[in-house]
Amino acid sequence: MKDDFTWASRNTLSSLLDQARQCTDEYLASLTTRRVYPSDESIQRLRELDVPVPEKPSDPHEVLEQLHRVGSLGTIAQTSGRYFGFVNGGMLPIGLAARWLADAWDQNTAHYVMSPTNAHLEDICERWLVELFDFPKDTAAGFVTGTTLANFSGLCAGRNEIFRRLGWDVAQKGLYGAPRLRIIVGAGAHAAVYKSASMLGLGTDQIEIVPQDQHGRMRPNQIPTLDEPALVVAQAGNVNSGAIDPVGEICDRVAGTDSWVHVDGAFGLWARVLPRLADACDGFEKADSWSVDAHKTLNVPYDSGVILCKHRSALQEAFRASASYFQWSDHRDAMNYTPSMSKRARAIELWAVLKTLGRQGVIELVEHLCDQARQFAEKLATKGFQICNDVMFNQVLVACDDDMLTQRTVERIQTDGQCWCGGSKWDGRTVIRISVCDWATSETEIDRSVAAFVAARDSARRELAQAN
Ligand SMILES: *Cc1c(COP(=O)(O)O)cnc(C)c1O
Repeated sequence: MKDDFTWASRNTLSSLLDQARQCTDEYLASLTTRRVYPSDESIQRLRELDVPVPEKPSDPHEVLEQLHRVGSLGTIAQTSGRYFGFVNGGMLPIGLAARWLADAWDQNTAHYVMSPTNAHLEDICERWLVELFDFPKDTAAGFVTGTTLANFSGLCAGRNEIFRRLGWDVAQKGLYGAPRLRIIVGAGAHAAVYKSASMLGLGTDQIEIVPQDQHGRMRPNQIPTLDEPALVVAQAGNVNSGAIDPVGEICDRVAGTDSWVHVDGAFGLWARVLPRLADACDGFEKADSWSVDAHKTLNVPYDSGVILCKHRSALQEAFRASASYFQWSDHRDAMNYTPSMSKRARAIELWAVLKTLGRQGVIELVEHLCDQARQFAEKLATKGFQICNDVMFNQVLVACDDDMLTQRTVERIQTDGQCWCGGSKWDGRTVIRISVCDWATSETEIDRSVAAFVAARDSARRELAQAN
């Protein structure tokens, strides 16, 4: 190995990793005191990084030090237990440690011959996920960046399979002159589903929307008559309320029509492991494909999503490619399961997390998030906040007495730095949207956050009173 560059040598890696480890310890130690969202001054300091492209090499230790000192200033304390924004998962220790080790291996996973270990662990994760979710035995899994890509993958497999049955090879002929393919989604479908429709050439204008009930669940009896084949997209985990579509009933409505049911289960598919929610998750196995994130509810480090598809060959056909230099094997060539070719070995840290937790640990983790969400809601209710959804999973929708006060309160919460939540609209009202998605959230973090909510509302009330 060459040893005389200023920017890399055999020894640099080891000392850089030691340094990274020290920086990490410092960062993690700061989580209880640092603001969840950085201050304006901290963000301003990122400008220290704005220099023209460096003409000369730098000492990598200095680069790392600058990244730690300056770069960390603009980070969100997402793993502090007090981040409730979007649906962003926390990070289990074993996930990070396994990821570090795997990163040192630097595997590319496109072909089996590039990483037998990754291929093997993808097979194991596939089997374990299928068992945990109690899906049909030969269900295939592809490991992607997140649910956006997982939705795309499942819908691409579905689109191509429907066309194949109609005698139309869409991979070859494209959509020009193709038979019509309908796409039907619930009113609460995630933006990622619309993105997939546009990427798949189906067009967002073509999307037919099925009304939802007051919890945000698709109403199966409102699914239009399926005289032509359709991609039907159900949701496990409404992005606001956490509610779960009656997937079994939806599948029963669609059965016998040559249509394909995909379940967007980014965070809510994990409800399927909970005995408590067995009724709500009844019939999931009847769908054709399912998306789920590992980086949300399961607290695997970013990024990690999975497409699960009942029809293995349909998934593989969707991502077929060939070149004279490719090297196929009798084992898993991961590029056949996802849109990517080169990609990192995501299955490694997923395997480590699943192996560490086991079924019991997965259930404990998911129930813990639900418990904390319930407690958050109860404590806010005792402080006079209104809880606008049925808190059956990890999502809580909160409102103050009127929309303006709610809006000002969420703005205060965001700038105050004690915790972080986003806003949304629910049932025509402005709401604060809480997603409990980090194993590190406990009573301490909830109490601190409830206090921040109360302080933010007090301050918003004063401001509004002054303005009048
Ligand atoms: C988060 C989410 C997505 C998008 O997933 P990414 O992992 O961000 O790509 C899609 N659907 C639902 C329901 C989600 O919650």
